[in-house]
Amino acid sequence: ISSRDGFQWTEATGLVAGVPTLGLIQPSSDSNKEKVYDVLVIGGGYAGLTASRNLALADNQVLLLEARDRIGGRSWSSNIDGYPYEMGGTWVHWNQPFVWNELRRYDMTEQLEVSPRKNVEGGARVTVMMDGELLHISHDEEDEVIESAFKKFINVDGQFARSIIPYPHDIEFNMKGVLSYDKMSMADRMAQVASQLTPLEKNMFEGFLAITHGAKWDEASFFELLRWWALMNYNYADFMAIGLTYKLRCGQSALARHIFNEARGTGKVDYCFSTAVDTVNDNGDLVEVTSRDGSTFRARRIVCTIPLNVLHTINFVPALPVLKTEASLIGHANQVVKCHAEVANPEMRSLGATNYPDGRLTYTFGDGTTPAGNTHLVAFGSSLPHVHLSPQTDVETTKRAFEAFHPGMQVKRLVFHNWHEDEFARGAWEWLRPGMTTKYLQALRERHGNVLFASSDSSYGWRGFIDGAIEDGGRVSRVVDQELKAAGHKHEVFTSK
Ligand code: FAD
Repeated sequence: ISSRDGFQWTEATGLVAGVPTLGLIQPSSDSNKEKVYDVLVIGGGYAGLTASRNLALADNQVLLLEARDRIGGRSWSSNIDGYPYEMGGTWVHWNQPFVWNELRRYDMTEQLEVSPRKNVEGGARVTVMMDGELLHISHDEEDEVIESAFKKFINVDGQFARSIIPYPHDIEFNMKGVLSYDKMSMADRMAQVASQLTPLEKNMFEGFLAITHGAKWDEASFFELLRWWALMNYNYADFMAIGLTYKLRCGQSALARHIFNEARGTGKVDYCFSTAVDTVNDNGDLVEVTSRDGSTFRARRIVCTIPLNVLHTINFVPALPVLKTEASLIGHANQVVKCHAEVANPEMRSLGATNYPDGRLTYTFGDGTTPAGNTHLVAFGSSLPHVHLSPQTDVETTKRAFEAFHPGMQVKRLVFHNWHEDEFARGAWEWLRPGMTTKYLQALRERHGNVLFASSDSSYGWRGFIDGAIEDGGRVSRVVDQELKAAGHKHEVFTSK
C-alpha cells in the first residue's frame, strides 16, 4: 500500500522513499487503448478527480491518466500506524464552498478536527528565535504581534483592502483595480511598512509570511496576499481559522478516494496510473495523447489539469499560445518546504514557534498527538536561498531544524514530500510572481482547441487551495459535457484506429 511518493525517516529504518497511502491505486491500469473516449482527463488531483466524476455522472466515457501511482496530486495523506500525515493540501473550512460541498456529499463534515491546540495544560507555548536568542511568549502575545503587523502590512486603502477586493470570488471585477498591487512584490510592500513595525513584529510576521507565499520576497506578488486576506474575511482571526485550523481526521486521501470511488462506480471511468503524458496532439476532430512509454489514447476532449509549473513539459500539437507557455516557464514562485516530525514530547502539542530568517525550518506548531502518545509537529521552511532545505538529502539538518524550535525536542520520526524537487509539481501551492495575475491568468484559463484547462493554479475563487481545484474541475466539466451533448456524441463510443 505504499506510494513511490514521500519519504519517512526513523532511527530504526533510516530514510525510506515511499510511504503508505489510501490514495494508491491498484491495479494501476484499467483502460482500452482501442476506444475513443468522450473525455480524457490528465491528472488525478482534485481538479482531475472532480472533472472525471462529474463527466461520468453526466454519462460521458472518461479516461483518467495520471503520472503518479496514486490520486490526490498535491493533496495527499500518509497513514502511518493509523495516523494521517498530510503531505500537501491539508486545512479546509466551511467558508470554502466547493470543498465543503464535497465533505457534505460524502458525510465527512464530522471528520473535521482542530489542528493547533494552544491551551494544553503545562504545555509548551510560543518560541521565537530572534537575533540568536530564544524568546518565550504566550499564544495571546503571538496573535497580538502578528495581527498588529498584518494589519499594517495589508492596510493599503484605509479599509483593510475591502475597497480593492470587495468581491473576492469575482476575478473580472478584481482585475480592474489590481494592476498596481499585482506589480508590487512582497519585498516592495515590506519596504513601505518596515519602519512601522516593531523589531518583534517584523521578525515574527516575516517568519509567518515567508511560509505563506513560500517564495523569495521579491518573487511573490503582494496582490496574492491581498486576495487571500479578502477570501479570509479581511481579518487575522479568520485568516488563521480558515487557513491553518481544520483538517480531516481521516486524511485528505480519504476524500480523494471518495471522489475516485464514486467516479469508478458509474462504470464510465477507465484509468491509467504511473502514466506520464508526453504529447497532446489535437487534429481538430479527435485528440491523441501519447505517454512517455509510447502508449496512445484518443478522446474527443481533453481536460488538462497539469500544474502550472510543469505544463511546459508537455508537447502540444498545435503548440500552446505563447502566453500559456511563457507563464508556465516562469512558473509560480512558491517553493516552500513542508515537513512533519513525531517528537517524544507530549507537552509540545501546544507549541508554536518561528525561527526566521536563519532557521532551516521557519515555522512550526503542534498538529496532533500520535497513537504512541507523541506530539506531531508540522513545520514549514522558507525559500530564502541560504536556508532552503531538501529534507531527503539532509536528514540530520532537518532534525536539528526541529530541535532548534525548543530545548529538549526529541525527534523520533520525519515524514515529508519534497514538492520543489517533484517533477510533476515543481512547487507547492500556487503563488504568482509580480505582474503574473494581470498578464497571464486569463490566458491560462483559455481552452486550446479541444483541450480545456482546469487547475487550482488558475482558478477564480480559492486559487492555490483545494477548493479552487474542485471549483475549476467542476467548471470545465460542465463546459465539456454541454459541448459533447450539443454535438450529439452521447452513447456513440466506437473503436477504430
Ligand atoms: P494537482 O493536485 O497538482 O494535480 C495535478 C495532477 O497532474 C497531479 O496528480 C500530477 O501528478 C499530474 N501530472 C503532472 N504532470 C503529469 C503528466 N505529465 N502526466 C500525467 N499526469 C501529470 N490547499 C488547501 O486548501 N489547504 C491547505 O492547507 C493547503 N496546503 C498545501 C500544502 C502544500 C505543501 C501544498 C503542496 C499544497 C497545499 N495546498 C493547500 C494547495 C492544494 O494542495 C492544491 O492547490 C491542490 O491540491 C491542487 O489541485 P490540482 O488538481 O489543481 O493540481
